[in-house]
Amino acid sequence: NSETKEAESKDKDKDKDDGADGPMSAAEKSLLQKIIHKGLVESTKDLEIQRKDPSSPLYSVKSFELLHLKPELLKGVYAMGFNAPSKIQETALPTLLADPPQNMIAQSQSGTGKTAAFVLAMLSRVNVDKNYPQVLCLSPTYELAIQTGEVAAKMSQFCPEIKIKYAVRGEEVSRGSKISDHIIIGTPGKVLDWALKYRFFDLSKISVFVLDEADVMIATQGHQDQCIRIHKMLPKSSCQMMFFSATYEPEVMEFAEIIVSNPLIIRLMREEESLDNIKQYYVKCRSVEEKYVAITNIYSVISIGQAIIFCHTRRTAGWLAEKMTKDGHRVAILSGDLTVEQRIAVLDRFRAGLEKVLITTNVLARGIDVAQVTIVVNFDLPMDQNRKADCETYLHRIGRTGRFGKSGIAINLVDSEESALICQEIERHFNKKIHYLDAEDPDEIE
Ligand code: ADP
Repeated sequence: NSETKEAESKDKDKDKDDGADGPMSAAEKSLLQKIIHKGLVESTKDLEIQRKDPSSPLYSVKSFELLHLKPELLKGVYAMGFNAPSKIQETALPTLLADPPQNMIAQSQSGTGKTAAFVLAMLSRVNVDKNYPQVLCLSPTYELAIQTGEVAAKMSQFCPEIKIKYAVRGEEVSRGSKISDHIIIGTPGKVLDWALKYRFFDLSKISVFVLDEADVMIATQGHQDQCIRIHKMLPKSSCQMMFFSATYEPEVMEFAEIIVSNPLIIRLMREEESLDNIKQYYVKCRSVEEKYVAITNIYSVISIGQAIIFCHTRRTAGWLAEKMTKDGHRVAILSGDLTVEQRIAVLDRFRAGLEKVLITTNVLARGIDVAQVTIVVNFDLPMDQNRKADCETYLHRIGRTGRFGKSGIAINLVDSEESALICQEIERHFNKKIHYLDAEDPDEIE
């Protein structure tokens, strides 16, 4: 079944050599993004809205009060620290909460408030007088399901009568019994087992169906088919369908069209990353030892904020972390051989400021957006398999998004003819000067 497949693929990753970390799976990326970004990602882009019947009115709200939520739910929303709806929530929430219910497809990058929107809709549709599952939310993995469940638990903290059940690995229901919880949040394989094989609950009684992280779902072998099998058992005319994705590939829209009929489609294009507010430098080094000295010189001038150091291989990252630690620095290390739980723990500590330096491989090129990170160091310049400049990865490591991006400093350690060429190619590609920095005199920065 799907749960064991997931576990197997994780084990395979663990056995990889200590070379460059391979790309993360879509599910891992999504989870890390959720965990790394603890606040809303703001956007300067306009919402794009599509619907079959443009004559029906479309509402948008600027406050949560205007949604006429149950008072306990509104209290939960405020207790989470939400003051006003996010950009997509302004338009999504009135539609999700409308009567009669309307279907929706929403695409926007991670961190823009999709989960909070559909969780609020899920909670407000529950009828607590009926003791059976009415709301079903599918997530691609165990971890992502738990993340969503935690949002639901928090938002419903003043509605203790609403019961939520996880349908994920490790959860058991005794044979022959029926689930009485109102909301089920789970992975497709487990939900199929529970609904069809064991008949723990009745899919024909579901009135709200949420398919979250559709792009990740597609990327996970077998999940799309399982979702479609589940969807087939739902009461088409009376079940509100909601479909969410962070990306916009055509396959996602094809999938969406199978799942959701007559939807309101909301899209918010992602904010481009740019190097506009970033001062870029390169430091000449003759050996890995000199690179180390450069790092410690730089480290000694970081008084505010934090730094991230990117290495090409796990071996270098491990070596650097060990050396810096021996020299009395507090550093955190994050590489592809850590479990998701370990990565979360490392990032939480770093975010809390317990370590000022985070050493990592490419696992985190995208997504680390810890607001207080002021310096990014490329201990090794990013290159692709052909040892050519990997400009895209460079941008993900260094760039900030839109006008919300804070200013920052990027330092590239150049230790060979090859890396000097890569550095020049990056400079040319972005048409932005990378200034020479004397590592003996790092006070020049800032
Ligand atoms: P997505 O599902 O698009 O990734 P989330 O719903 O998880 O986005 O929201 C991203 C982050 O922003 C979360 O930490 C969430 O608690 C927070 N958030 C969501 N909606 C709001 C809001 N209206 N005001 C403030 N913070 C919000």
